[in-house]
Amino acid sequence: MPDTKKKMDEEFASLLMNAIQKNDIDAFRKEFLEVHPYDQAKFFVSQEEDIRKQIYTYLSPAEMAELFHNLDSEDQEKILHEMAPSYVAEMLAQMYADDAVDVLNELEKDQVVSYLTIMDDEAAKEIKDLLHYEEKTAGSIMTTEFVAISANKTIREAMKILKSEAPDAETIYYIYVVDDEKRLVGVLSLRDLIIADDNKLVSEVMNDRVVYVSVSEDQENVARMMMDYDFVALPVLDYQRHLLGIITVDDIMDVIEEEASEDYSKLAGVPDGEGNGYSAFSAAKKRLPWLIILLLLGMFTASLIGRFEETLNKVSILAVFIPLIAGMAGNTGTQALAIAVRGIALGESDHNSKVQLLQKEIGTGLIIGFVCGILVMLIVDVWQHNFYLGLLVGTAIFCTLTVSTMTGALIPLVMHKFKIDPAVASGPFITTLNDIISILIYFGLATLLMNYLV
Ligand code: ATP
Ligand code: MG
Repeated sequence: MPDTKKKMDEEFASLLMNAIQKNDIDAFRKEFLEVHPYDQAKFFVSQEEDIRKQIYTYLSPAEMAELFHNLDSEDQEKILHEMAPSYVAEMLAQMYADDAVDVLNELEKDQVVSYLTIMDDEAAKEIKDLLHYEEKTAGSIMTTEFVAISANKTIREAMKILKSEAPDAETIYYIYVVDDEKRLVGVLSLRDLIIADDNKLVSEVMNDRVVYVSVSEDQENVARMMMDYDFVALPVLDYQRHLLGIITVDDIMDVIEEEASEDYSKLAGVPDGEGNGYSAFSAAKKRLPWLIILLLLGMFTASLIGRFEETLNKVSILAVFIPLIAGMAGNTGTQALAIAVRGIALGESDHNSKVQLLQKEIGTGLIIGFVCGILVMLIVDVWQHNFYLGLLVGTAIFCTLTVSTMTGALIPLVMHKFKIDPAVASGPFITTLNDIISILIYFGLATLLMNYLV
């Protein structure tokens, strides 16, 4: 953060603290309401509980609503309990319905019900409708505060309607055009509206090839569409093409962050959902199942090496290169995995792109294997003064790297085909699998070359 911003934050904080100590509500509000809700939220959450309880009484529920959705969900839950239930209900009613739903989704069911009962009916209904949609679908992230007009209005009338609806709409950038049954028939942007002739009809100006998403669409696909089309909002329709809500680009940014961190956790074999507030015990409980499976697989690898005990006894120098070969297999496998998972995440998952990706990875594996193999062969030859040992380790590296690059790419692609989230084909799993493959190749070759090694 730039120095000046930090200095401003400190000044801001000390002014506010002053006002709070003197209980000077006007001075507090004057300073506080001037800054961005994000900065308000940052200041608010960094205070002690008793100070927070004082601050919220200075602010109207609508003002609190502005800053509240900038808090992360753990802080939101904590802070809700510090405020009077009627205040919370009013604040939730003042928020955009999708933001209120985000808050409520983190709470216990009976709590949600109790807030909804004290809330005014209209707001409660809007929120209740949104709460029904399944998590991570378009329906669950959309909001209902959009501007809709009918096609037979003139541009002048449309402007008037827009002006009257603007205070409550989440975005006024796109105006959606609906028929009498509330079915979406067109869209125009604020720019389209402003530059159009006042006397023209909306139907003449509007764009009738509307890009939309259906309520049950996965949020990740919605994010992809938003990126592809560069719109700042997308309409959400039900199966009869009724306009139900809109999804705005700011919510999509949260989706992208959420999905990326989820994929990242899965790649490392860590179940998602370990935020800042997790306990050691719950974290261990979540991670252990995977680790135990990997442990058992590791045991299997160990027993494989045990089978080659005789070979090892005869040529004990072989043991020196096990970590090298297994490690290199793990490394290339993980690299290929990352490329494949990224390819799938970017939507390159049709049959042709998959085949192409796989071909490219096999090619890459062959080149990597060849270069590393030759290098290792030369080094071992010079170091151990043993040509056949160099040949063995070099060939093993060549085969292992080629195969493990291929499995690293192949496994996520196959999993994707069977509709298993490829991010679950995590790094640790591929690494362990490649350990097994590399051990088999290495000792297989060693057994073949045995006569030359002793
Ligand atoms: P600016 O580029 O300055 O933001 P604009 O009017 O070009 O203004 P864009 O967001 O670029 O606005 O939208 C481009 C066009 O796409 C607009 O004419 C708008 O009517 C149209 N549009 C908006 N949403 C949709 C949609 N869901 N489906 C199809 N067209 C849409
Ligand atoms: Mg444009």
